[in-house]
Amino acid sequence: MKVPVYLDNHSTTPCAEEVVDIMIPYFRERYGNAASRTHRFGFEAKAAVELARERVSALISASPKEIIWTSGATESNNLAILGAAREASGAGKHIVISAIEHKSVIDAAAHLQSEGWSVTQVCPGADGVVQVEAIEAAMTSQTTLVSLMMANNEVGTVQPVRDVGLLCRDKGVIFHVDAAQASGKLQIHVKESCIDLLSLSAHKMYGPKGIGALYVRRGRPRFRLQPILFGGGHERGLRSGTLPVPLIAGMGRAATLALEDMDNDVPEKMAALRDQLWSGLQRGISGICLNGSADTRLPNNLNVSISDVESQALMMSIRDLAISSGSACSSASLEPSYVLGAMGVDPALAHASIRFGLSRYTTSEEVEYATQRLTEAVRELRAMSPIYSVNSDP
Ligand code: PMP
Repeated sequence: MKVPVYLDNHSTTPCAEEVVDIMIPYFRERYGNAASRTHRFGFEAKAAVELARERVSALISASPKEIIWTSGATESNNLAILGAAREASGAGKHIVISAIEHKSVIDAAAHLQSEGWSVTQVCPGADGVVQVEAIEAAMTSQTTLVSLMMANNEVGTVQPVRDVGLLCRDKGVIFHVDAAQASGKLQIHVKESCIDLLSLSAHKMYGPKGIGALYVRRGRPRFRLQPILFGGGHERGLRSGTLPVPLIAGMGRAATLALEDMDNDVPEKMAALRDQLWSGLQRGISGICLNGSADTRLPNNLNVSISDVESQALMMSIRDLAISSGSACSSASLEPSYVLGAMGVDPALAHASIRFGLSRYTTSEEVEYATQRLTEAVRELRAMSPIYSVNSDP
């Protein structure tokens, strides 16, 4: 077993060997620009881009023509929300999002407010799951767009995307889904779930960083997007900029791997290891509680709070274990997680939260090691704490 043990796979995943292998020739000898139409270098690059487009569309049961390359889920979320809302502004200027969306959704929506839109944030229940009724109650005659993530990046809770999709279709409202954390772990079917726009990121599914995709539904009823980047008119004018061919080829391979993972029960195997981790932690540590629903959550996520233990201090004391509190994007901030806040978790427990993210590579040995190291570290910190009596530990 290699240390440090990496259990921070919601932040990012390692790049799979298969993905690295497919990218290398496009850095070395096949370095053409996919927009070059006059020579073999360009044709090769274009063929790689189109193969990857097919592979990514297969992951979400879409058509290749519905995939737009972006730099990651942050850009996909921005393009989806700003692009769809601005185009549809004639129909009304109100959007509904959940309060536990990634910052790239929350801040894009906040930006729309500065353009005269109103935004309603819907809180989840204490279990971290947003109710479809709450989304419906937030909608008005002016609502043009609803954005709801498929799975949350901190507590891993899975949201009722299909029910909200049906609701949006009934009401003629555009539906955007951020599936950055769901790909390779949950089945994604954009048509069955009535999704108009869906964001993906390669580095959350063993692909490279800096590449993502936005699914943009085609067909009837028709809807359009406005671009947020202007230039050479690439990607049907929706996202100008020379395509990063090696990264795109890598994302395509990662999408195929994600499908294979689901056929090979990788999500079930990760869930079994995650349950092993949770049972081990409960055996060794008193005052530990689970944040978010036990069942309606990603197979690779565990998020816990440990009473009287500050999570920053805990993580600093275990150098050979890569875990996090909250999301990487906000881990520089000392504020407790807004996701846990929206779920109504007590601020003291929110400060004591720890997120584990398992991967397709996580082993039982690593889970055992993490359990032991965490249990020891909690004992040590509590033994030093003036407010905690060591005798209350099992
Ligand atoms: N949405 C979610 C749910 C995420 O977890 C992340 C990454 N933390 C993003 C969007 C942003 O993705 P990217 O890093 O590809 O910009």
